[in-house]
Amino acid sequence: MKIFKFGGASVKDANGVKNVAHIISHYGDGEVLVVISAMGKTTNALEKVVDACFHGKKELKDYIEEIRSYHQNITNDLFPNNGEIWLNEVENLFLELECLVDNENLQDDYDFLYDQIVTFGELISTRIVSAYLLSQNTRNQWLDARNFILTDSRYRDANVQWEETNRVVQNRLKPLSSRNLIITQGFMGKGFKGETTTLGREGSDYSAAIFGKLLQAESVTIWKDVAGVMNADPKKFPDSQLISELTYNDAIELAYYGASVIHPKTIQPLKHAGIPLFVKSFIHPDENGTKVSENGVTIQVPCRILKQNQILLEISTRDFNFIAEESLQSIFAALSNHKVRVNIMQNSAIHFRCVFDNKENKFVPLMAELDTLGFNVKATENLQLLSIYQPEDTTALGVEGRIVLEQNSGSANHYLLQL
Ligand code: ASP
Ligand code: MG
Repeated sequence: MKIFKFGGASVKDANGVKNVAHIISHYGDGEVLVVISAMGKTTNALEKVVDACFHGKKELKDYIEEIRSYHQNITNDLFPNNGEIWLNEVENLFLELECLVDNENLQDDYDFLYDQIVTFGELISTRIVSAYLLSQNTRNQWLDARNFILTDSRYRDANVQWEETNRVVQNRLKPLSSRNLIITQGFMGKGFKGETTTLGREGSDYSAAIFGKLLQAESVTIWKDVAGVMNADPKKFPDSQLISELTYNDAIELAYYGASVIHPKTIQPLKHAGIPLFVKSFIHPDENGTKVSENGVTIQVPCRILKQNQILLEISTRDFNFIAEESLQSIFAALSNHKVRVNIMQNSAIHFRCVFDNKENKFVPLMAELDTLGFNVKATENLQLLSIYQPEDTTALGVEGRIVLEQNSGSANHYLLQL
């Protein structure tokens, strides 16, 4: 059994869908489960729908219309003659979406509403791909991932309930996947009350890893618009190189620092189950791409990761007290309350500095809370964070040893060395 995952860029237009169908039928011999994301930038477009619905904006209908016509153009291309039958299924999803946004009872919890709405992107894309495959005589079964990926009800960042998920996967999905080519959605699951949940933006890679682990797949392949994992984003650094082999450990670190080719949560389930991950180009499917496994080669070249839109918070005590354990405790509690994921942090005598992605202005309520806790806070927006993974050797520093920890605290660089 193999797991294939196709992201939004691979199915952004009719030719993309045709290419995906070609890859599935040519490289997917034997048992295959295919995980697909929303087409192109549909999730972003649906985020606008959520916002308009929540704030009662009049553009709501137009936003939905835009999404409908984008998908209609794709389906008109894919099914020039006989689209009606399956188009009903897509049309039905739009109807469901419209009824959902009309239902005022659902609109008081933003994060809940978000998960109910944005997942239409995946439901629609998988319906279209499944129907197209069928039209090309590739038999397949469309399945609703919510029946299998069971989560808690932490909306927009749900946690998988592994035991329950494993039970339904073994009892219900395994028998089906051994008979049929399965087409299902990434990113989405089902919460405690049967409601839709999501695993966090770009979470489809993680869905593929969950299915891979529980179905004991021989491999998981993520098909991308780049050649594989590179040592830097080729769009920003033209001299970047492909890394052909990588250990799980290196992959998890790179993903954590923001190498956007793999979602950070993806590696852990695969490492536990010892399942190799391939990252390959859907444009050049015959090329090898990158293989991530336990015995992969440790990274030899430094990797540069550039994260945009970062914000720096400089937190200090009002009375010139030291930032000590107690104050750190309340700062961390505030960060966690506001679901802020810190990229880097640093403390000095009277300052605590942290850097995170500037998403949805989360820092505004966070700063207000820190203010009530008695801290001074200064925010600097629009920063870029450059991380260089794989420390360079210490010869340039005039000392010997391997750098195991390195930090720059503004006035000095600190290197923790192991001889
Ligand atoms: N469609 C979702 C997103 O864009 C999930 C994914 O692509 O992995 O965030
Ligand atoms: Mg996507």
